[in-house]
Amino acid sequence: MLKQHDLPGVVNSQKGRKGDKSWTVTLFMPQEIFDSLDTPSKLIDLFDIHYRDTIPLIGKEKLVKDFFATKPSPMISVKCSPYHVGSTCVIMGDASHAIVPFYGQGMNAGLKDCFIFNQLLDKHDNDLGKVLQEFSQFRNPDAEAICDLAMYNYIELSICSSLNMPYKSF
Ligand SMILES: Cc1cc2nc3c(=O)[nH]c(=O)nc-3n(C[C@H](O)[C@H](O)[C@H](O)COP(=O)(O)OP(=O)(O)OC[C@H]3O[C@@H](n4cnc5c(N)ncnc54)[C@H](O)[C@@H]3O)c2cc1C
Repeated sequence: MLKQHDLPGVVNSQKGRKGDKSWTVTLFMPQEIFDSLDTPSKLIDLFDIHYRDTIPLIGKEKLVKDFFATKPSPMISVKCSPYHVGSTCVIMGDASHAIVPFYGQGMNAGLKDCFIFNQLLDKHDNDLGKVLQEFSQFRNPDAEAICDLAMYNYIELSICSSLNMPYKSF
């Protein structure tokens, strides 16, 4: 079992996320540290110091191969309103309310959008003008609340002093 680690980042592992019983490892660190890891030996040194127990579980070769196969992505948070334009266009999921991943609710919030949208289609007999307007009004407070909760949890975890900390999953 991989442990949650403290500074300089967090190794957060999720079993079976890819559906093939493998583990996804997500590393959160300031961009400067990602930038400094420009050779395999620097990467192994960092893991040796901070995440030693993960090395035999991942394997040095796979760690190096997977780490350098992807680039870190910045974490973003989106709040916007409304989510629709007239009776023709609506955004759902991360497009309308992306959240930092520390509450584990981003995907759930997107699925809830679909559930609510479907209920509104029934309620308004597929009248998209009414459906889209009520969807925006009804979903926005909950979406903004989970956005805030995720950010509070990020601060609570005190992972890093920078709120623009990128992450890399491999
Ligand atoms: C590290 C991490 C951990 C997470 N952990 C969890 C968790 O434990 N639980 C949870 O519920 N959520 C979690 N989430 C959040 C979850 O992954 C997202 O909320 C979810 O994937 C959003 O789904 P989506 O369909 O709205 O957007 P996306 O998954 O971003 O899908 C959008 C799709 O649109 C495509 N696209 C973009 N632009 C265009 C274009 N112009 N034309 C055509 N296609 C386009 C993209 O390629 C993408 O495939 C996590 C997120 C991250 C980053």
